[in-house]
Amino acid sequence: MQIVRTPSSSRAIARTLARPVGLVPTMGALHRGHLALVERAKRENATVVASLFVNPLQFGPNEDFERYPRSFDADAAVLEAGGVDLLYAPSLERMYPPGFAARVGLDVVTAQYEGAWRPGHFGGVATVVTKLLHAIEPTSLYLGQKDVQQVAVLRALLRDLDFATNVVVVPTVREPDGLALSSRNAYLSAQERAAAPSVFRALETVAALVRSGETDRARVLAAGEALLEAPLRWDYVAVVDPKTFVPLDPLRRPGIVIGAARAGSTRLLDNVPVAGADGIDPVLTPENPRRRNLTEKPASSRSMR
Ligand code: AMP
Repeated sequence: MQIVRTPSSSRAIARTLARPVGLVPTMGALHRGHLALVERAKRENATVVASLFVNPLQFGPNEDFERYPRSFDADAAVLEAGGVDLLYAPSLERMYPPGFAARVGLDVVTAQYEGAWRPGHFGGVATVVTKLLHAIEPTSLYLGQKDVQQVAVLRALLRDLDFATNVVVVPTVREPDGLALSSRNAYLSAQERAAAPSVFRALETVAALVRSGETDRARVLAAGEALLEAPLRWDYVAVVDPKTFVPLDPLRRPGIVIGAARAGSTRLLDNVPVAGADGIDPVLTPENPRRRNLTEKPASSRSMR
């Protein structure tokens, strides 16, 4: 596995790679959730590139940027064992040199829920992903369902700014008790960890009620909210429109049940998509099938003319 450290060298090398190229962006502290993205990218591409960069732009001033878990050598070994061909791990100075002033922003989906709890977060994500896409020029970008609002933001970014890259969404990987894997789970105390699976249980209960045809928003959300175990507290639980993240009232399908709970200063995020009557999953299914035209054939199957 080759490791590159600067945007310019990364692009020069990326342009020599066999296509299609899959990009898996990460902030490190890797777990099986990240590996599911790598495995999917391996299956669907001739070359897999991973990036590892803890992006300060997406952390608020009182968030955990300084103490975010960093384990570069172990992460690089995991990625190499997973079959990653190229690791792009830029330094902070190369990504944001003195005078760096650009910001990428979106008018939709970024103001509510995670956007409201973490002002500036999605602008930071959109900015770094734009830089990663310019550095690697991948065929497909692999994202986890776990961060479902991020998926909506990045789908809008790539569509609206005409990036020639597909988004592929990989289902959330969970612990056996249902807790979604996250690098931040390491922050949980034993008591918080024991209560943590109640987040997913609550969201699943809400999703089951929506699937069964319940439309009374207040009653359904109250049923889910009540299932959260102490010492966790909700930041929010909602059933939202899959594209706009506007809350659905009355409830209907398709939708996404989203929730964020707080354990001290650690936030646990999760979601459960609810398919429409057509059975189409509103998160995992490509939003616009025409974009499949962007998919390139593996280099080996392309004819030489
Ligand atoms: P992060 O390193 O937290 O920025 O995450 C990098 C990518 O891995 C993002 O696309 C996340 O949505 C994805 N990811 C994180 N946790 C999981 C999980 N439990 N299952 C699937 N994907 C995940």
